[in-house]
Amino acid sequence: MQAFRVLRRPPRASTLAMALCAALAFSSSHAQQGAPVAVQQGEQQSAAVLPGDDFYTFANGQWLAATEIPADRSGWSAAQALVDETNQRIVQLIDDASRQGQGDAKRVATYYGALMDEAGIEARGTAPLRPVLDKIAAIRDKAGLTQALGASLRADVDPLNATDFATENLFGVWIAQGFTDPDNYVPYLLQGGLGMPDRAFYLEENERMSRLRTAYQAHIAAMLKLAGFTEPEARAARVFELERKLAQAHGLREESSDVQKANNVWAGKDFAARAPGLDWKAFFQAAGLGKQKKFIVYHPQAIIGAAALVAEMPVQTWQDWLAFHTINQHTGALPKAFVDQRFDFYGRTLSGTPQLSPRWKRSLAALNAAMPEAVGKMYVDKYFPPAAKAKVQQMVANIVDAFHQRIDRLDWMAPATRHEAHAKLNVLYVGVGYPETWTTYGGLDVKPDDAFGNAWRAAQFHYKLELAKLGRKVDAKEWSMPPQLVNAVNMPMQNALNFPAAILQPPFFDPNGSDAVNYGAIGSVIGHEISHSFDNIGAEFDSKGRLRDWWTKADREHFAKAAQALVAQYSAYDAFPDLKLNGQLTLAENLADLAGLAAALDAYHASLGGKTSPETDRQFFLGYAQAWREKAREASLRNQVATDEHAPAQWRTYTVRNLDDWYKAFDVQAGQKLYLPPEARVRVW
Ligand SMILES: [Zn+2]
Repeated sequence: MQAFRVLRRPPRASTLAMALCAALAFSSSHAQQGAPVAVQQGEQQSAAVLPGDDFYTFANGQWLAATEIPADRSGWSAAQALVDETNQRIVQLIDDASRQGQGDAKRVATYYGALMDEAGIEARGTAPLRPVLDKIAAIRDKAGLTQALGASLRADVDPLNATDFATENLFGVWIAQGFTDPDNYVPYLLQGGLGMPDRAFYLEENERMSRLRTAYQAHIAAMLKLAGFTEPEARAARVFELERKLAQAHGLREESSDVQKANNVWAGKDFAARAPGLDWKAFFQAAGLGKQKKFIVYHPQAIIGAAALVAEMPVQTWQDWLAFHTINQHTGALPKAFVDQRFDFYGRTLSGTPQLSPRWKRSLAALNAAMPEAVGKMYVDKYFPPAAKAKVQQMVANIVDAFHQRIDRLDWMAPATRHEAHAKLNVLYVGVGYPETWTTYGGLDVKPDDAFGNAWRAAQFHYKLELAKLGRKVDAKEWSMPPQLVNAVNMPMQNALNFPAAILQPPFFDPNGSDAVNYGAIGSVIGHEISHSFDNIGAEFDSKGRLRDWWTKADREHFAKAAQALVAQYSAYDAFPDLKLNGQLTLAENLADLAGLAAALDAYHASLGGKTSPETDRQFFLGYAQAWREKAREASLRNQVATDEHAPAQWRTYTVRNLDDWYKAFDVQAGQKLYLPPEARVRVW
């Protein structure tokens, strides 16, 4: 689970998990428009509102009043400002590498340069697409179709670490240790095949979804027309109908989060009987998984449904579907008309973003997805000094200590459960800044005049790297986020955390800044990630990363009761007059916010040696709320409320109302809007 809300990007053939694409793919703005307000971190910003009525505005009022969302964005936040700054630095590094880079640095510069060569891409037109589309057109029967569907699979989802469930390919593949087999890698198969974010977009009966469906079908037709297909409207109608049928078999968003429902181990030979309609042997062969004996079928109903549709629907419909998604996933390397069309639907219509981000930012996002660690290595070498790493490692150690102490103080937890919780903390791997070993890209062929081919080969390269893990020993210290990403993650099966270098900057962390603000901002993020090891999902994995129930019934009951109170607290918030937050969907993240904030405050207090004061606590809480400042467009906020496991930033900051110290620091009184009587404050850890 990552710390930051994932901006809902449309599914695409990314070569990395969603978290990367989310934070970087949308990473673009005009510096002037989104110019950060000069804010003294840890100082109050609005005198017009009482902290007890609206702590978010109290802490961020000045920033909110002065900040406009850049035209090419669906939202703007402290994190996104950091993303922009990081991107500026990376482009400078690429510029240097284009002149004197060697090896992967040269490869990085060439990849980026090919995407920036707009004239070359225009001149080649649809020619780079032709060989791929010709292959699809040459499919004659279900055997050929099966081969093409299998060959199109990529390692493009990550349900646990990145909550990335979406792929436009028929299925998503994730290579990770088995749910109950921490020593061996297993391929996970996830539902896929949709061009809109979730089944709800196809099936929900309301005005907005209905309008989006019409727009999406028009988008399919427009893409096919641009690529030179005859009868694009008729083809689009058939593609849409196929996706609607796929969507009917898809699991609900909430079900995707339930790992117990996902732990379905199927032997390779069982697929034919369990999911008839697809020649699975041939399919897996084409996907490079022919020798694999065991799979985890994450979404069994969707896999069964899709296999049946391969048998049921005509080959021609599937060919059109394959052609459309091939084009749709590669527009970044195609002429402007394709880019504009894609933006018109996914940017403007689906997310409410008025303006396409500039070419360099889109190219950089694609580069970051294609060669994440090559770029990350360049970034870290220049921008992440050892002293910053050491300071964060010390904070991490202090916060881990705070968790140990909190666990000891829990009177409701059974001794055996408590013992395993300590064991989990003891073996927790906390990665700070960058991975222990770097992925290198020596086998990836990158050409200056072949942006499309580069993207195609990079996705294949990544898929092969992932497949190569099958049969190897599990590496619990493997990173799932690149260093240049502004985010953080808890990987429950690995029992590991990553804090990439790029998030370890102000306003989250300033090696020369105040401890109060550092603990409130990055400290609460660190605590958030640690606490995921013990939340409703983390509690399902033991210290070895095995899916195992290590809680007693009474522990669970207590936890569930406290969690229900938090569900109710969040479900009562209105994002809009007609739209409440979903406390159940956001429960794990809200629990992590609560536990993380409390542990960070403990660790901060311990670091002061007991010399706490309301003044320094005020700075701590303001540092926390200011790190979450964010503005989002209405369409984007509505998407987030519907599909994101993170509550929008404003409501995340209201976590403070569950901590007694916040009431003392700001003299919050009964009658104020955020006031909760002591017995109504949620205390889980
Ligand atoms: Zn989280």
